[in-house]
Amino acid sequence: MRIIADYHTHTRYSHGKGTIRENVEAAIEKGLKAIGICDHGPGHYLYGVKREKIYQMRKEVDRLNREYKEIRILLGVEANIIGFDGTIDVDEEIIEMLDILLLGFHYGVLFRSVGDYLFMNVANPVSKLLPIGRERIIERNTEAIIKAIERYPIDIITHPGDKVKLNTKKVAEAAYAKGVALEINEKHNELSVENLKIALDTKVDFYINSDAHRPEEVGMVDEAIKRVAEANIPISRIKNLIDK
Ligand SMILES: [Zn+2]
Ligand SMILES: [Zn+2]
Repeated sequence: MRIIADYHTHTRYSHGKGTIRENVEAAIEKGLKAIGICDHGPGHYLYGVKREKIYQMRKEVDRLNREYKEIRILLGVEANIIGFDGTIDVDEEIIEMLDILLLGFHYGVLFRSVGDYLFMNVANPVSKLLPIGRERIIERNTEAIIKAIERYPIDIITHPGDKVKLNTKKVAEAAYAKGVALEINEKHNELSVENLKIALDTKVDFYINSDAHRPEEVGMVDEAIKRVAEANIPISRIKNLIDK
């Protein structure tokens, strides 16, 4: 089994180590037919891509697509949830420039309100230690993702359940209804085997992505494939996986 595309890679535009060109060349070397350049959304105050840089990235990706005919390079963003009402940190103007839109929960993000900030940075971490209120918090995280799916043209939810806990079944059902896929991420062990099995019981599709932060990590998904095998996911459910 191997992937033919890797839709989640980072570059120097956020906090990756390589350039777009270096990621593309690494992808070609691994035999990939498509690569997503998806740096962190601008709402991430530590390493989000600057909004104005996305225009520059668009030009660079277009240039590289003309130069490298053997691969399709997609410009995307790994957007952040910045409000539990489902608001994300990329606006319509940016979304229109993109080929692919990823969405995930992350810490280090500028939230829209103090309430949202506290819910993410206090309530969520505390709920991992103390059971009181945990279910309610998970439901609110889940609702935020579902509202975002309904509001924006999201393609893939990155590492679902990794930074904050989610109701996997509800997220998977809502994702399927909107044609959104769930990611099986090489770097983060959510979706776990257990949650993969829960998602598998719905009709949602998956992608396996490296979440590479260095060119040499592009296309490297061995750990993710192990989880796929353990959860017994048919290849047909994973959109970028082939059986050879
Ligand atoms: Zn992420
Ligand atoms: Zn990432």
